[in-house]
Amino acid sequence: MGPGGESFGGHARVSSRLIPISGCGAKGPACFLVNTAHARLVLDLGYGPQPGLWPDVSAIGAVDALLLSHSHRDHAGALKLCSDIGNPQVHASAIVGNLLGAEIDTSPLPLHGSTEVCGIRVTTGRNGHAPGGVWLHLDVDDGLLYTGDYSVESPVYAYDAPPPARTVILDASYGDYDAPLADCMDALDDLFDQGPVLLPVPAAGRAADIALHVERSGRGLPHIDDDIRALLKKLAADYRECLRPEAAAALDRIACEAPGIERAEGVMLAGVADALSGRAAARVSQWESAGAPAIVFTGYVPPGTPAERLTRSKRASYVRWNVHPRLSDNAALVRACGARVVLPAFADAKHIWAWRSAFAPAQISFEGPIIL
Ligand SMILES: [Zn+2]
Repeated sequence: MGPGGESFGGHARVSSRLIPISGCGAKGPACFLVNTAHARLVLDLGYGPQPGLWPDVSAIGAVDALLLSHSHRDHAGALKLCSDIGNPQVHASAIVGNLLGAEIDTSPLPLHGSTEVCGIRVTTGRNGHAPGGVWLHLDVDDGLLYTGDYSVESPVYAYDAPPPARTVILDASYGDYDAPLADCMDALDDLFDQGPVLLPVPAAGRAADIALHVERSGRGLPHIDDDIRALLKKLAADYRECLRPEAAAALDRIACEAPGIERAEGVMLAGVADALSGRAAARVSQWESAGAPAIVFTGYVPPGTPAERLTRSKRASYVRWNVHPRLSDNAALVRACGARVVLPAFADAKHIWAWRSAFAPAQISFEGPIIL
């Protein structure tokens, strides 16, 4: 018997079902269960983004495969829970497999192409958001698209348009926000012109975007920490396939020539994004009670992190750097896919009215099971 009591035996056609485990209706770790007549799959198994937030996988049972969209912690940070879901084979792009490390055994998904997982055709495309990141399209019933995180605006990461799907799990992280990346660039440029700025950023994410923007804006090269330098080097060489073609040479030059962070000067990029750990944590504690440099957070500010403490006390400011789709990007995707059912993921359900109007005639849903 499948979850919900329906029998998977007999000759009748059995519809596949989608069950959001975590990440729908509130900001939380990504985890979605797909039950088909042939296989049970989990899409992403994340942790966070706020400290201590794990998905509740206790009702999932054993599954056949785990497919990962990208390596960020809130999508792939709970792999230690694999033993609770039957230790399934993990499928991810080769770049994501490389970022996760040798101790995680992954079967490669293409960056842009098709493959079969447990008898189900899986089509992938680059998500424009992170190294090796992909959206996932499952050829079950009338099609299921899981965007994971995606962006159409990144100057660095390439984005491929997905095929039609009746049901879409959509990256709605930004709710009803609709300002273009150019506005974020202008706001940051204003701060860069006022003096030294420290930006805590994820190495495997918008560090490359912002580094490229600084270089292109004629301010010289940013100051970068060793983790970011290593990642930029990888992007320009082994990970080149996930880049926009024009970005590789500039990233290589930044990786080779950008100065390190030694004192408060220029634009400084240090990991990690919420300054909870990494070199950003050390720099933030060094400079928190000093008047300079300016500290600017550009991503999600999780409760219980230095990012929250410093923005609340006004020691740090916040300027968003778009790494997720705007409302109008999502509306265009829903329309292009011909979606009938949309699950807005990774955001608070308070935006439902904006989503309803932007995605009509598609229906909005936060809960499963959803018949595919
Ligand atoms: Zn992400």
